[in-house]
Amino acid sequence: MTDAPTAPRARAVGAPTPLLAPVPDPDAATLAGVVDLVRAGRATTRPALVDASRLSRKVVTQRVEQAIGLGLLEHGELAPSSGGRPSRTLRFRAGSGHVYAALIGAAEITAAVLDLGGTLVGTAHEDWPVAEGPEPTLQRVHDLFTTLARRTGVTVPWGIGVGVPGPVEYATGRLVAPPIMPGWNGFSVRSWLRDHYDAPVWVDNDVNLMALGEWTRATPHDGRDMLFVKVGSGIGAGLVVRGRVLRGDRGAAGEIGHVHVSDDPRLSCRCGRTGCLEAIAGGWALERDATERARAGDSPALAAALQRRGHLTSQDVGRAALAGDPVAAGLIDASARAVAEVTAHLVNFSNPGTLVLGGGVLRTGTRFLDVMADTVRQRCTDLAVRDLVIRAASLDHLEGVVGAGLLAAENLLNPVALGHWVEDGQPLGHAATLQRLSAGVVA
Ligand SMILES: [Zn+2]
Repeated sequence: MTDAPTAPRARAVGAPTPLLAPVPDPDAATLAGVVDLVRAGRATTRPALVDASRLSRKVVTQRVEQAIGLGLLEHGELAPSSGGRPSRTLRFRAGSGHVYAALIGAAEITAAVLDLGGTLVGTAHEDWPVAEGPEPTLQRVHDLFTTLARRTGVTVPWGIGVGVPGPVEYATGRLVAPPIMPGWNGFSVRSWLRDHYDAPVWVDNDVNLMALGEWTRATPHDGRDMLFVKVGSGIGAGLVVRGRVLRGDRGAAGEIGHVHVSDDPRLSCRCGRTGCLEAIAGGWALERDATERARAGDSPALAAALQRRGHLTSQDVGRAALAGDPVAAGLIDASARAVAEVTAHLVNFSNPGTLVLGGGVLRTGTRFLDVMADTVRQRCTDLAVRDLVIRAASLDHLEGVVGAGLLAAENLLNPVALGHWVEDGQPLGHAATLQRLSAGVVA
């Protein structure tokens, strides 16, 4: 006996609730299993499906015919013969459905329509300050989706993925104390969109989605673990381990912009604290320092740019550095080293195969990446950097919106979710169930 106070036994937060989500029948489960094996590339012929699924040849044949009839699988080329009769390969029809995706940045929104494999069908972009607040911002997202629907003909999305520039509680899609998003704290992006669309909605931090998009769609796809570091106005990191985004317990993993790196009390940060990495090396800090140096008369190039437009951007600093301005070059180097110091800890800790730099900093030229790569290599253990590839993001600033689409696709197509709608051939009408399921099943 213990006299410790007894708390009511709580269901694990985020665990799927069997009573709310009906269990699919066995036929649906085997059909979902067959589709999933083909989609994942683990078995792409009927004989391979028999081996991989442990279903009988007859059942596999039936399920494959059913999946083809539903439009989810299709025939590909003949498989290389291993002596017997050559068999037709099967492939997942990524074009059988489409998702909407949006990446909300600090100062811009990118929206897209993608097929289920993450291929872009259409994109739309707009400059928009996220500080305008949630309602007007999501109205802009909605308007961009409407434009894209007209342009692409995809009027009914199967699901919606959204990235936001702040910490998101992944299970609920709510923002939690986002430093640069006034008015968004506690706001549910998911609820707002669910009121406007009969489709399940998944919301994640922008950098997690950039990492997912880059990991999945960058070529060559080597499948190695990837650490993605975004340096834009803010700074963040996303880690993909064995194809899965590491979100941590609540979705807060990777928030490196507000790691404390300096005791200088003058370095106040947008989050309300002082000495954060972002306050030293973020885009806004770079612009702050460049403006200071221009005003002090230290750099004729920066002073001229400031004179022309009244303010300086990171790109101005990049251009001045490229033109040989030592002050601009010094500012970029200092920023790159500060980011590299923190990144090196992450590399030592997680030993990724690929380290990717993304975000607006890429628009300042290659100097930042070069300095950052040198510093990371100096700071990391030999084994951690032995085969480490360090490179720039390669999807032309679209990796985040691609990742948002993939987030929706993965949540629609994982075997548990698939089992609930596969016999209908499409998930329309299942939004509420899929939303509940995904609280415990993450991409
Ligand atoms: Zn901060």
